[in-house]
Amino acid sequence: MTETVPVLTIDGPSGAGKGTVSRLAATRLGWHYLDSGALYRAVGVAASWADIDLSDASALVRCTFDTVIDFAETASGDLRVLVNGVDATDELRLETTGAVASAIAAIPEVRAALKERQRAFRRPPGLVADGRDMGTVIFPDAPYKVFLTASAEERAERRYKQLKEKGVSVTIDGLLREILARDARDAQRPVAPLKPAEDAVLVDTTGLGIEEVVARVLAVVKPQG
Ligand code: C5P
Repeated sequence: MTETVPVLTIDGPSGAGKGTVSRLAATRLGWHYLDSGALYRAVGVAASWADIDLSDASALVRCTFDTVIDFAETASGDLRVLVNGVDATDELRLETTGAVASAIAAIPEVRAALKERQRAFRRPPGLVADGRDMGTVIFPDAPYKVFLTASAEERAERRYKQLKEKGVSVTIDGLLREILARDARDAQRPVAPLKPAEDAVLVDTTGLGIEEVVARVLAVVKPQG
């Protein structure tokens, strides 16, 4: 039955603006929103709380099954992520958590364990799903697919601005190196490598403002305008 619920998949590398664009698209469409990266990040946080070694794949797989992940919206509309009942939203966004998530996401059994949890987000009236393999693996039958890109330099610059606003001191060069390393790892992993679905519409966000990107993405859902 859920197959009849429309899904808009928004995949792409880190820093292409997927999170902001996907949330806005979901709000405008009145659809549910899945931040699939948050699931991998949540498992990463749970694994570090449990002191699990990143080389211990079977412990990480057990941890994936055992971790309870809930999304909660505050009265002001903020999305919070609870890991085993604890609000871990801030820890989830750390660069270090992203790196752990990316390492964990390369384990096929972890990806398999999260598959049904992601598919459960497909509920009426529709779903906007943000990630790396939404259009290729999780919702291959989605009627609407977008692949967002931006040059690595622009992504590093956007990240630099975000972190600077938060008072985190980093260099653009360092961020660029991290972004290129993460891209390479995500693109080269044998399971669910980062690549556009064959039927995805490519949207290059380099030099575009957020509203322009959202308009292009929504045009995929409503081609007739
Ligand atoms: O999107 P976000 O940066 O939160 O994702 C963190 C990491 O989780 C990514 O670098 C990627 O390795 C992994 N991920 C994934 N598949 C997804 C979403 C995220 O492998 N659908």
